[in-house]
Amino acid sequence: MSRSFEGTPASPGIAVGPAFLLDVEELRVARREISGETEAGKELARLDDALSATCEELRSLSDGMGELVEGRQILDVHMMLLDDPVMLADVRRRITENRDNAEHALSQVLYDVIQRFRAMEDPLIRERASDVRDVGRRVLAKLLGSEREALGRVSRPVVLVSRELDPSVAAGLRRDQVLGFATDEGGSTSHTAILARSLGIPAVVALREAAEAVQPGMTVIVDGIHGRVILDPQQDELEYYTRLRDKYSEMEAAIARNASDPAVTADGRPVELAGNIEFSQEADQVRKYGGRGIGLFRTEFLRLLSPDADDEDMQCMAYSHALREMKPYPVVIRTLDLGGDKFPGVPELRERNPFLGWRAIRVCLDKPDILRRQISAILRASVEGTAWLLIPMVTELDQVLRTRDMLEDTKLALARDGIPFDPGIPLGIMVETPAAAIAIDIFLPHVDFVSIGTNDLTQYTLAVDRGSPYVAHLFDPLHPAVLRQIDHVVRKCHAAGRWVGVCGQIAGEPLAVPLLLGLGVDELSVSISLIPDIKKMIGVVDTAEAAGLAGEALAADSALKVRQLARSYVQGRFPTILLNGFQGTEE
Ligand code: PEP
Ligand code: MG
Repeated sequence: MSRSFEGTPASPGIAVGPAFLLDVEELRVARREISGETEAGKELARLDDALSATCEELRSLSDGMGELVEGRQILDVHMMLLDDPVMLADVRRRITENRDNAEHALSQVLYDVIQRFRAMEDPLIRERASDVRDVGRRVLAKLLGSEREALGRVSRPVVLVSRELDPSVAAGLRRDQVLGFATDEGGSTSHTAILARSLGIPAVVALREAAEAVQPGMTVIVDGIHGRVILDPQQDELEYYTRLRDKYSEMEAAIARNASDPAVTADGRPVELAGNIEFSQEADQVRKYGGRGIGLFRTEFLRLLSPDADDEDMQCMAYSHALREMKPYPVVIRTLDLGGDKFPGVPELRERNPFLGWRAIRVCLDKPDILRRQISAILRASVEGTAWLLIPMVTELDQVLRTRDMLEDTKLALARDGIPFDPGIPLGIMVETPAAAIAIDIFLPHVDFVSIGTNDLTQYTLAVDRGSPYVAHLFDPLHPAVLRQIDHVVRKCHAAGRWVGVCGQIAGEPLAVPLLLGLGVDELSVSISLIPDIKKMIGVVDTAEAAGLAGEALAADSALKVRQLARSYVQGRFPTILLNGFQGTEE
């Protein structure tokens, strides 16, 4: 009997096919007491053999990954985990002192590490628990002599269903082998979701109970657009989604064929459409999907993933790659937005209201060496293309002035050393707080451009924690209070001759496009896979009509009314399938 599950859309598209249940072995392994030092020595040797065999396996997986840079990065992180001296010392101590067998000692240590990751508040860091578990399972499989479930054995394309899909498995998925995947856990920012989007495999995560309910071979529908999974569908559901899938594929193919076309409104006004990235290699994807520039490079992800990312040369290499790839279009590189709950390795740093605490530019100015290194890396990379420098979470003019001082000092230092850089690199601020939005005129004389971060602007304006499921229904960037601030900022920026873009999630929501264009923003910067859809939406919007629509939205009394207004504008002009809040009506 058909059962439907709602989750978080992680990668757009629709898949229909037989379920392949990826077995999730538990990490708990029974204890077997070992006797004497010789036995302990044997266990230590078994552990070392298993570690090096796993490392070898990961290396060959990584070598076979070719162009999939994100996949290789993830496997690099896994190889680093295998080498973690603290974790390994703990396992060895359990073997020699507790007389635990190697697999039990390892499983206990892994379990503790995973629990510690899971206790972190930041979902990005919490999701790193899956990397530890993933690599841990590989080593355990070697010790236990069992083979990891080999997806390679499947003879026809399948829909993968699992409690949680390990990133290294996701990295090895082949488009012709896996139609889509559905997981009970995970979030849209997990490695696995990032990879699914890169591979173009439809995916839904955070389904909670789907893996429990599915049987191997059962027909599964994955609706990665709206975050729905249907197990064992009825005949009419099956026919409906099969039609929808084919229609979606045709539409995406048609949109992708026009990737190199510029984004132009129905009345011929060009619109700047760019992509948001977290890793430098994603710049290649932005270009492929037809983005003309990177409106937001969230640099803190490099640092969260790799301990070496603070190194100036490493940073310079990453920025250079993105700049070269996007040349001549701009790459807006944001200084580290660490802080609040994003402090890997500093769990003792607890604040009552982390989002109102030590975050982003506040941290960077308190840790000037970190900021100086990053600015220096950006400046050195700036000769490779068109770099813009962006400061997150600004509330005080002093923050801008101090950053500008540091920028100028760093330029002087580089010039002294004869290192080339772009002396005219623009410095901009993110408008993510009501302080920056309402008092934008204070900042404008001191900045070259502005980027509106609607995710945080919504969170801080509506007093809604953007990560809390309890108040998620109150989080809507189309709330008139947010729209009025965007309107105010755009007007002030243009009056002062400053460029203003939007890089929050809302820029990638088709329904919001006519509103944002109507408000006059210069650029929309969106998740890579959404670039073609947003370009299509731009193409059906008439600038004068959009301005009228924006005027009505500013006068509306709720986000719901704004959504209704926008929906009635796009109705009939844009495929319903791509609009959020899909009600199952097909065009
Ligand atoms: C935003 O706040 O809208 C934004 C783009 O920044 P982030 O999502 O990285 O906080
Ligand atoms: Mg933000």
